Amino acid sequence: MTRRTAFFFDELCFWHSAGMHALTLPVGGWVQPPAAAGFAESPETKRRLKNLLDVSGLSQSLLQQSAPAADEADLLRVHPQAYLQRFKALSDAGGGELGPQAPVGPGSYEIAKRSAGLAIAAVDAVLRGEADNAYSLSRPPGHHCLADQAMGFCFLANIPIAIEAAKARHGLGKVAVIDWDVHHGNGTQSIYETRSDVLTISLHQEHCYPPGYSGAEDCGQAAGEGFNLNIPLPAGSGHDAYLQAMRQIVLPALERFAPELIVVACGYDANAVDPLARMLLHSDSFRAMTALLREAAERHCAGRLVLVHEGGYSEAYVPFCGLAAIEELVGVRTAVQDPMLGFIQSQQPGAAHGRFLAEYVEALAGRLR
Ligand code: ZN
Repeated sequence: MTRRTAFFFDELCFWHSAGMHALTLPVGGWVQPPAAAGFAESPETKRRLKNLLDVSGLSQSLLQQSAPAADEADLLRVHPQAYLQRFKALSDAGGGELGPQAPVGPGSYEIAKRSAGLAIAAVDAVLRGEADNAYSLSRPPGHHCLADQAMGFCFLANIPIAIEAAKARHGLGKVAVIDWDVHHGNGTQSIYETRSDVLTISLHQEHCYPPGYSGAEDCGQAAGEGFNLNIPLPAGSGHDAYLQAMRQIVLPALERFAPELIVVACGYDANAVDPLARMLLHSDSFRAMTALLREAAERHCAGRLVLVHEGGYSEAYVPFCGLAAIEELVGVRTAVQDPMLGFIQSQQPGAAHGRFLAEYVEALAGRLR
């Protein structure tokens, strides 16, 4: 059965310039600066995903549209005015550093508002019943952004902005946010850590980003205690460890919580060739995780599932991971073959490391139960 999948994107989002002054690697000293495109958060990963959707023909099965920028009221539900003014002033002045690893370019404020607007529209389309599920190709991403602090390529908290807009407009109740970006969803966690109406779960590479952070001890505070779960996985975790974590931790948590909407912070940087992390996922991993959450959404909330694009820094491979997730949302397979699938499947953890990972996830599931 095919489903009605809404797909939100806007060319403007590809025009955000993170600025060549902020390179991923520290340069100088013994480190030769890279050539022009040295910044990891490039529009190419996102644009090439959109292009593969078009070339594969999958676009024809999607309800494709743009959306207006998030307006001031939308932003102010999550971010304080003073932070927004600081962001706008820096953007209007031509750019600079808004926070750690968060350089903005000229016009980035307007572009970030459009990125958040796409996420708002994706949630809106699903809640109105115009689509069964939705994908927002948001850029810049949002999951590292705190209420008053940009960081990690993120300037506005796209998912919280979309959730709070839906709560204001549709009286939406309980929402679950599953963050499978390889880096910790620290912004979303900080915005919701004292609330029980939004369950946040982050699967991430332990000690990766924010630098040194694990999250194993953080499980929400005050009224939010127990509504914030962290699944820090060791570097080198692959398809089986992620699927086990989904089945033993994420799905039971969703069962207990019974959300009215599931939102995914959909980064693809846990794939095996990502330059900013060290995990071993492939396109079928993202396909399988999307399938598990689609089925969970069907059980709990009439299939209401929204994927919001976050990280993923391999220009060559992100398109195949994204295509697989979106094929699963729609319920069709295109003729596209992932040229790297076989190789990455052959690079999965060996027997001893696999056993270690299975026991690690089992123990984590026991602690979080
Ligand atoms: Zn990431």
